Amino acid sequence: MVMGPTHAMSGAAAGLAIAALIPASIGGPTTAVGALTFAAVTAGAALLPDIDSPQATVSKTFGFISVGVAHVTENAALAIYHLSKTDRDSDRNNGHRTATHTVWFAAAAGLLVGVLIGLFGKLPALIVLFLMLGLAIRGLFPEWSSSSDWLAITGVSAAAAVAVGAWQPQMASAWALGLAVTVGILAHLLGDALTKSGVPMLGGLVGIGGKKWWDVCPPGFMRIKANGVADKVLLVAFTVAALWLAYLTVFEPAALGASWPPAGSGGQAA
Ligand SMILES: [Zn+2]
Repeated sequence: MVMGPTHAMSGAAAGLAIAALIPASIGGPTTAVGALTFAAVTAGAALLPDIDSPQATVSKTFGFISVGVAHVTENAALAIYHLSKTDRDSDRNNGHRTATHTVWFAAAAGLLVGVLIGLFGKLPALIVLFLMLGLAIRGLFPEWSSSSDWLAITGVSAAAAVAVGAWQPQMASAWALGLAVTVGILAHLLGDALTKSGVPMLGGLVGIGGKKWWDVCPPGFMRIKANGVADKVLLVAFTVAALWLAYLTVFEPAALGASWPPAGSGGQAA
């Protein structure tokens, strides 16, 4: 799946673009490191919806454990589909691109993260960080294919989460992390909607023409093929955007509306 890096980069760019705009009162990042961490979570969350496919690269992130989660998710998504479909919706035999590819999933996942962190504090925040870092790394490097690379990804993600936890204690902010997860998932949905089959963004709850599961996709001429040239173009565009936004986050934060000082300013407020 060539789309993995594109999803991860779109999530990173979205995260960097909004990190500084989230009020500190709900846990918005107050430092450049906090903003970069926030963007790492949106990058990982931008892979999360494809956990509904055991064959997807992202489902191999944490080895047999995440493949198992993917099987459960696919079956749950298929069950939700069958419970909510109307007679006019087609029959399906797998749950890929259904429940986890809706705005409801984006909202629910962010809410769940926010509530868990609100109730239990730092530990779930670090677990979310660990999981999302793993997904982001897997998304960026889909070609890694040795049978043990998932152990490396798991180790690197765990170490990074522990380091951030020790170094950046205020990262354990409930609603900001929940929002990061929601934004990342929405970035995935938009990316998938650009590919041929579209996504059922309002699936299950909002009916149109007697169907509960209808795909949102752009006009034909704008649709692009996964694995195609346009995907590469998007990947380059999102990568350039993410790098530029990361540069601004660190060196010209005021340009993003951030209140933290630029690196090298000696700590004066910008
Ligand atoms: Zn997808």
